[in-house]
Amino acid sequence: MSGFVEVKSLTKVFPNGTRALDSLNLSIEQGEFFALLGPSGCGKTTLLRTIGGLEQTTEGFISIDNTDVTFVEPGDRNIAMVFQDYALYPHMSVEENIGYPLKVRKIEKSLRTERIKTAADALQIQNLMERKPSQISGGQQQRVAVARAMATRPNLYLFDEPLSNLDARLRLEARTFLKQLQRELGVTTILVTHDQSEALALADRMAVMELGKIRQLGSPVEFFHRPANLFVAAFIGSTPMNLLNGKVRDGKVQIGSTQIGVPTSVKSVAEGQEVVFGVRPEYVQVASAQSGGFTGVVKVLENLGTHYLVSIDCNGILVRGTAPDGEEPKPGTTISLLPDPKRALLYDAGSGNLL
Ligand code: ATP
Repeated sequence: MSGFVEVKSLTKVFPNGTRALDSLNLSIEQGEFFALLGPSGCGKTTLLRTIGGLEQTTEGFISIDNTDVTFVEPGDRNIAMVFQDYALYPHMSVEENIGYPLKVRKIEKSLRTERIKTAADALQIQNLMERKPSQISGGQQQRVAVARAMATRPNLYLFDEPLSNLDARLRLEARTFLKQLQRELGVTTILVTHDQSEALALADRMAVMELGKIRQLGSPVEFFHRPANLFVAAFIGSTPMNLLNGKVRDGKVQIGSTQIGVPTSVKSVAEGQEVVFGVRPEYVQVASAQSGGFTGVVKVLENLGTHYLVSIDCNGILVRGTAPDGEEPKPGTTISLLPDPKRALLYDAGSGNLL
């Protein structure tokens, strides 16, 4: 069965020779909230713009709702887009801006008014309805652009950093609204974001891209708990994962002078294999010296509110764990940090792939 959005062998080479998309394949189901993540320049925006028809493909094809749209004009794709440069019509009021696509689609006036009001209420711009775009702030303009897209009810939403100009509180509220409305309407949505917590919070599935290719595709839970390779492991997580070089010796992982048990999820490793031991600091706890973890001197303590991030120097290797607020160790003291074997991961050092 094919997905609602199908991207096949998509390549985009810009005239200056930059290969922004490299034979990329992607299938998105009807009604899915899909997020695209990746470092700056990996091709996220290009992929979104190509699906939207704002960029022409170099090779490959795109279908939406079982229709090949590779050469279809953006206006004929029945999609609503909000891009970073949310172009509002300068001569129209906020209300007219939100209602314009509905007017073009000849939506009846009372329904138009209702849709405009729902979107304006949700994005808290009711008091700006009479103003022109030049008379409101950047964050407010962005909210108008989102409201305009939300009022439209197309087949597909394409959002490129739609909340980037909002302050932290508004951003959280707006993202809850996005998710709620997307659920209610069941409109397939693709979101490009720099903010991984936004992707983890909103997406049914997500992809991490690198150099015009997808490096991993899956649910937010899979990304957080089982990054498929070292690139994704290093990229996902608000506090970076511990990624420690080691070698399999006597059925254990030798990291510097410390021997740690092979993580529970690993099926097989070869004696002498070069590996990278990965574990999120959230799954590394302060333990007694006999518990068999990493022992070292506390170098840095970072207060994260409910808990502390504890960094120790274990014979030249930096290991991070966490301690509950009130039970944090003192800098300069020697402690042990014990990784949870059920949460730890092992990567092959050569290929970078999860074992
Ligand atoms: P960011 O997170 O910084 O927005 P991105 O992942 O969205 O990055 P793209 O904007 O898709 O990345 O860019 C992918 C690559 O294509 C980059 O190397 C970029 O410099 C290049 N690129 C983008 N647009 C053009 C263009 N019009 N002409 C030439 N190269 C371009």
